Amino acid sequence: MSKRDYYDVLGVAKGASADEIKKGYRKKAKELHPDRNSDNPKAEEQFKEANEAHEILKDPEKKAAYDRYGHAAFEGGMGGGGGRPGGGQGDFSSAFSDVFDDLFGDFMGGGQRGGGGRNRAARGSDLRFNMRVSLEEAFNGLQKTINVPTAVNCTSCEGTGGDGGAEPTNCPTCSGMGKVRAQQGFFTVERTCPTCSGMGQIIKNPCKSCSGQGRVEKERALSVNIPAGVETGTRIRLSGEGEAGMRGGPSGDLYIFIEVSKHELFEREGVNLFCNVPVSMASAALGGDIEVPTIDGGRSRVKIPAGSQSGRQMRLRSKGMPALRGGGTGDMFIELAVETPVNLTSRQKELLKEFEELSEDNNPESKSFFSSVKSFWDGMKG
Ligand SMILES: [Zn+2]
Ligand SMILES: [Zn+2]
Repeated sequence: MSKRDYYDVLGVAKGASADEIKKGYRKKAKELHPDRNSDNPKAEEQFKEANEAHEILKDPEKKAAYDRYGHAAFEGGMGGGGGRPGGGQGDFSSAFSDVFDDLFGDFMGGGQRGGGGRNRAARGSDLRFNMRVSLEEAFNGLQKTINVPTAVNCTSCEGTGGDGGAEPTNCPTCSGMGKVRAQQGFFTVERTCPTCSGMGQIIKNPCKSCSGQGRVEKERALSVNIPAGVETGTRIRLSGEGEAGMRGGPSGDLYIFIEVSKHELFEREGVNLFCNVPVSMASAALGGDIEVPTIDGGRSRVKIPAGSQSGRQMRLRSKGMPALRGGGTGDMFIELAVETPVNLTSRQKELLKEFEELSEDNNPESKSFFSSVKSFWDGMKG
């Protein structure tokens, strides 16, 4: 079942102010209150829905997370949370939950999820690492060590958060429900329990190393394999390499977002590479061999047929990029750009003038162009 948009639930516009959200909620709460809707079985559901929407939208952090990721921000893991400082080689941002699983599926495979629902021991946040690689690196694939600033399970309490590894106990305020009911005016509102912050459990003697969090901040060096064929936008998921969960909950995942730098010589389109090669006017006219660079660092000889025009394309089979999931290699296309000579000496000018006088039938393209122009102008007259 798909969840309704929280703003719609409260009957306010997207990006409504805190005041508008409050007013919208009050209106809905009055309208839908079960005491007034004994004959409408749907009202109770809608009333709960409005409460939930209000819980999220009244909290600036949760609201921000919802605005960015929608409902996915609160599924399975811990929503919200802020950015993290960069690790020198890229930027991290924390806490974007399971949303990418649904959108992009598994790439590296493996790693199972704790299912939906609210876990007592909350799943750790996912981490994002932006990695820039060169086209050569994308061609070859690479292994890189990255430093991941993240939270790991606390060793003193083995992740329980309790001193000496003591397990948490049920919260006395809410009896483990994580929610309390409070009287507001003439109706009852369900609230997150203030004692346990909705966890349903409390820790009597918090672990001193982690202040009861069950995890500590630490930088980890992680060696990652970037397969050959990655391109800008490729996401690589490293299952379980994100932040450790709260109080022994499962770890989040680490996502590596690839960006391939622009190359000086090659332009990439999928698995194919394109390279513009300038050739002199005389070489294009006479034909000959040229040497072109290839992405593997080598060179290939290419025969230029006599009379090649600017824009002529030639294909070098299997000299392109490897396909990411196997399935062959692309081609490389070279496109000739015939260069008009500049800075002519008087001797060169003389030669070209002489050449031009002898060249009446050597420029078929311009000949046919000018004859079309002539018939166009003649047509205008008539
Ligand atoms: Zn601890
Ligand atoms: Zn509680």
